[in-house]
Amino acid sequence: MMSVQERTYLGVPVYKPKVAFFDFSSCEGCQLQVLNNEANLIPFLNLVEVVNFREVMTGGVNTYDIAFIEGSITRYDEVTRLQEIRTRAKVLVAFGSCACFGGVNRLKNRFGDLGWVKREVYGDHTIETDKVRSVDEVVPVNLRIYGCPVKKEELEKIVLDIALGRTVEVPRYPVCMECKGNENVCMFDLGEPCLGPVTRAGCDSWCPTNRMGCWGCRGPADDVNMDEMKKVMKEYGISKERMLDRLECFGGFQKYVRSIKCSQGTGVNP
Ligand code: SF4
Ligand code: SF4
Ligand code: SF4
Repeated sequence: MMSVQERTYLGVPVYKPKVAFFDFSSCEGCQLQVLNNEANLIPFLNLVEVVNFREVMTGGVNTYDIAFIEGSITRYDEVTRLQEIRTRAKVLVAFGSCACFGGVNRLKNRFGDLGWVKREVYGDHTIETDKVRSVDEVVPVNLRIYGCPVKKEELEKIVLDIALGRTVEVPRYPVCMECKGNENVCMFDLGEPCLGPVTRAGCDSWCPTNRMGCWGCRGPADDVNMDEMKKVMKEYGISKERMLDRLECFGGFQKYVRSIKCSQGTGVNP
């Protein structure tokens, strides 16, 4: 159990969990999200005791309750490091699309010959890099915070839920619900494809509100109707290849990509 601090919230004793942030193969943008909302930073840091966070502090200790894991797993030393973190953390959170699904890094897995990929990207440099895996393909995960990058407000809410011992809920419905609530013109009617009908909400329809179609960074919503999504794409003249580009971009729709590619009879290597 986490130790009880001398603090209350609405009269309820508040736990102040020790939290640690760890980066693996990633752009570190999700960690930056923790820091970029200055208005809420002090109240947020008051909720938790940050004991390990390379981006903002030197040193750090290996005693923590919650480990936030950013990034996908692409090297053998990352596997060992992640397994060690798992043994220490009471709660392990996959933090962002790279950690949840492999993220944009997962595009590498589309190529059958990883040696060729390595040569194209790194030339003669000797560097170890393997197939890309999500965090839950290596160790058990307790919670997922979706997004590329994660939404700061959602992170704060989830940390508050943990601190107060509340059940953590993420939206089960698709981005379209938020988009309609924001009274946006549908991107399909503006000539751009959008994965909003099948993607998990929680970003407040970030992209369509800024006149871009959704690329599915938060992965599939519950009860995805991919057949309807395909019909809508076809109705608006969007090719299957364009739809697949979006579905593959962040790694969250692998099983759907696999079945679409199988139905096309193409090689599959997600
Ligand atoms: S999920 Fe996106 S923002 Fe976060 S680390 Fe990965 S690439 Fe960067
Ligand atoms: S723009 Fe995208 S998210 Fe918004 S209503 Fe259209 S399909 Fe749904
Ligand atoms: S609209 Fe789609 S791609 Fe954009 S942030 Fe939301 S889930 Fe991610």
